[in-house]
Amino acid sequence: MTKQYQITLLPGDGIGPEIMAVTVDVLKVVSKQYDLDFTFEEACIGGAAIDQIGEPLPAESLEKCRRSDAVLLAAIGGYQWDNLPRHQRPETGLLRLRAGLGLFANLRPATILPQLIDASTLKREVVEGVDIMVVRELTGGIYFGQPKGIFETEKGEKRGVNTMAYKESEIDRIVKVGFEIAQKRRGKLCSVDKANVLDVSQLWRDRVTAMAPNYPDVELTHLYVDNAAMQLVRDPKQFDTIVTGNLFGDILSDEAAMLTGSIGMLPSASLGADGPGVFEPVHGSAPDIAGQDKANPLAQVLSAAMMLHYGLNEPEAATNIEQGVIQVLERGYRTGDIMSTGMTPVGCRRMGEALIEVLSSEQVLGFRF
Ligand code: NAD
Repeated sequence: MTKQYQITLLPGDGIGPEIMAVTVDVLKVVSKQYDLDFTFEEACIGGAAIDQIGEPLPAESLEKCRRSDAVLLAAIGGYQWDNLPRHQRPETGLLRLRAGLGLFANLRPATILPQLIDASTLKREVVEGVDIMVVRELTGGIYFGQPKGIFETEKGEKRGVNTMAYKESEIDRIVKVGFEIAQKRRGKLCSVDKANVLDVSQLWRDRVTAMAPNYPDVELTHLYVDNAAMQLVRDPKQFDTIVTGNLFGDILSDEAAMLTGSIGMLPSASLGADGPGVFEPVHGSAPDIAGQDKANPLAQVLSAAMMLHYGLNEPEAATNIEQGVIQVLERGYRTGDIMSTGMTPVGCRRMGEALIEVLSSEQVLGFRF
């Protein structure tokens, strides 16, 4: 039976519309192969929304997102909006979208593709085969805890304060996502905290340990964040799924991503308890190359694969796209950001066409993201 999905597209700014157009074409091909019926509805966000409607996330855009099964976002931002007041900046649209959809879990894979090993700054033998998923808590912890602010002491000295706080329920819901993602992957979960120093981390560790018996198929380990940061560059292959709080996850997910060395290849997902998730590339709107057909569309395409996997529960269609990306790289096609000697330079549109040729012609098995 044909399955129907309503997808809201938020192309945003800069290279956003270019990489989104390629991704929609790819999804159309895959939908035919897997008997999926996608209805795409576009909405504005970021600078484009400021120009059209005067605010970075119009109510109508948020409403369209809420009504859909998943949201595919490209990127927002650009120099022309940088001097607007904070509530009118493109980034505010992104924060409002996350808050409006209750997205508390951020999934950031760092997968080394065999064809791009040399893009990493680390040695081949260290990064070959790396396949990590960082699950970061997104709406709590020190970025949101109260009290926060810059206060004056009795002696007239300024004192900056932020508070790292997590309730049990906030820990439980993100750790549950961590265990479930680990179950879908290689069954290994590493929880990262600073329980030797921070009380909030001790509660985190207690909750993770208490929940572990519910997931007997997952092998659980704990690491202090300083050690985790070292291990990620010393021996990243030891990790499968990492679950951690907002601050530690912010830092570790960027560190893990940089193991791959190619920003144009990195997708992400943000999920809530129910309702649609948001799937977007890690990179920004790349205004320096916007409108020049130079952007690498693959992070956006791989975000669509994450949407199929974690948002719509269509893992076969997701895997097909991922394998198509491997195959297109195997055939030597490269956009400027991942170009190396002997490869075929292509622009955004041609990369999309090459991927569609691959997806339409064959299915390649053997590599899983
Ligand atoms: P950026 O990621 O947009 O660009 C950094 C560098 O990487 C640039 O040289 C760019 O050309 C290149 N690059 C990025 N994506 C690429 C792709 N798909 N293909 C080829 N090259 C690519 O980061 P930035 O320059 O710091 O920020 C530009 C704008 O994007 C700013 O307004 C910033 O606020 C915004 N931004 C948005 C998001 C988001 O939408 N989630 C994330 C980061 C930055």
